[in-house]
Amino acid sequence: MNIKREDQQYFGSVLFFKHLILATICLIIFSLLTVAIVLNKKNNQLSSKLTQLTGDGQISGSATENIKLDYQKKFPKLYVERKAKTKSVPEKTIFLTFDDGPSRNTMHILDILSYYDLKATFFVVYNDSEDSKHIYQEIVKRGHTIAIHTASHKYTDIYQSVDSFLEDFNKIFTKIEELTGVKPDILRLPGGSINPYNVNIHQELLAELLRRGFTFHDWNVSGNDTGNSATSYSIYQAVVNNASKNDRSVVLLHDLSDKDITVDALENIIVDLQDMGYSFEKLDGSIKPFTFAY
Ligand SMILES: [Zn+2]
Repeated sequence: MNIKREDQQYFGSVLFFKHLILATICLIIFSLLTVAIVLNKKNNQLSSKLTQLTGDGQISGSATENIKLDYQKKFPKLYVERKAKTKSVPEKTIFLTFDDGPSRNTMHILDILSYYDLKATFFVVYNDSEDSKHIYQEIVKRGHTIAIHTASHKYTDIYQSVDSFLEDFNKIFTKIEELTGVKPDILRLPGGSINPYNVNIHQELLAELLRRGFTFHDWNVSGNDTGNSATSYSIYQAVVNNASKNDRSVVLLHDLSDKDITVDALENIIVDLQDMGYSFEKLDGSIKPFTFAY
């Protein structure tokens, strides 16, 4: 009975309210401490991510190593020196680019370019034949730019993931370096830097290629030489009509064994554009890339 009476006296007493206030203060302090600890932990995680990003992913050490993406750790030799894009390109410059070689037609194209003393850019694919090995070397020997267009050119394989693209890319990069002594530092993605096959990975893929020092080029004039209805005249018209509207053009043509029409169109393209005051140059890693707007 006494105890009950004491309880009744405690609840509502001054002592009870003192204890209640003390308990509330302890609870508030405990909550604030918990929030502080959680925020501090999050802050540390963000700081370490930031260190990795600003360090271009190349900082070593256990803290940053753990959050490096898996594909960034692969192919340690697949790096080129990143060049500042400071080379000025005079007005009325045309960059002829030939995709998909080596082919039966590459030597014809090289001979025409030699005759007019012009330099161009070849975005090549992988081919292990003896003729092709010679062609890779001949492109370099004649002073043109050898650039990469992937090894297999198979959209469904290369654009499956960043990993699969890098694996394919590494195969041709290694081959070209081994055969020519040149580390190609520019590339053209099959279908262009963004296309229906790579929409899901293109941002991540392009970021990874840039991180490794590579520059990718699209085009602003196409000879449309792969269409079924293309003729040497249609290619000539597409290139000359469109390039003559621009101060600077990157012209897409193809170096394919069944595209004699491209070779047939080439001399007229060169002669007529030269008559209009245009000159021809090759691409390199210090030229600001021509990319699609997206
Ligand atoms: Zn292609």
